[in-house]
Amino acid sequence: MSKPRTYKTEAVIIKKTKLGEAGRILTLYTPQLGKIQAVAKGVRRPRSKMAGHLELLTHSQLSLARGRNLDTVIGAQTISSFLPLKTDLDLTSYALYATELVNQFAADNVEDQPLFQLLVETLQNLSQGGDNELIMRYFELHLLDMAGFRPQLEHCVACKSALKDAANLFSPAAGGMLCPGCRQNQLAYPLSENARKVLLLLQHSDYSAVSGLEIDRELSHQLEMVVRNYIRYLLEREVKSTAWLDSVRGQIDDNQIRPYSPTTPTKT
Ligand SMILES: [Zn+2]
Repeated sequence: MSKPRTYKTEAVIIKKTKLGEAGRILTLYTPQLGKIQAVAKGVRRPRSKMAGHLELLTHSQLSLARGRNLDTVIGAQTISSFLPLKTDLDLTSYALYATELVNQFAADNVEDQPLFQLLVETLQNLSQGGDNELIMRYFELHLLDMAGFRPQLEHCVACKSALKDAANLFSPAAGGMLCPGCRQNQLAYPLSENARKVLLLLQHSDYSAVSGLEIDRELSHQLEMVVRNYIRYLLEREVKSTAWLDSVRGQIDDNQIRPYSPTTPTKT
């Protein structure tokens, strides 16, 4: 029996590129089909009825028609627009970083329903407001787990001994913790016992159980650096959105220090 010519799926729009005069190629993350690409015709025209349902970071119900190469979106209905993610630049940058990581770690056409759930949950959590850094660390740790790169935080990966409250290190190449005796010549980052415990807790909990954690700025920064360095090592290059996240934050920090002061226009 041949496959039906059209099918329906839920999807989160995780990437878009221009195609021709008015179309786009969308990268979609779906519950059953994993990551797929599809063509959306005419969605860059102002009167496109589908455009609003196919915006980046939108969770939609789609109808697609099979094509020889790429399938084509023929219908779209928003399930969640995650509006705050589109109106707050800071939230936009976090959400795009999350979708970029899904795009980087997920293989094409491989079903991974837990990852789809994690992505939707993360966009929801960001939309609802909370500690954005905590939301991201939770997302990263669970994504790493699902992608087969769960960092080993419970014991030293080299000698397997239990970790004492000492100067332990995290080694991206070893994929986990090293005790002071096993450091040798590996590139590794110091990880405080507090930070290790928070990461372990995030790894082993549902988001609802950790959402109330209060993490001070210094600890938050340490968690961000260690997880980001590990992800960077795994992807062997800087994730593009990370750089953007930094630049957006830079702008926001600049604005806080230096209030906007328009320069006096000069008449010519
Ligand atoms: Zn050791």
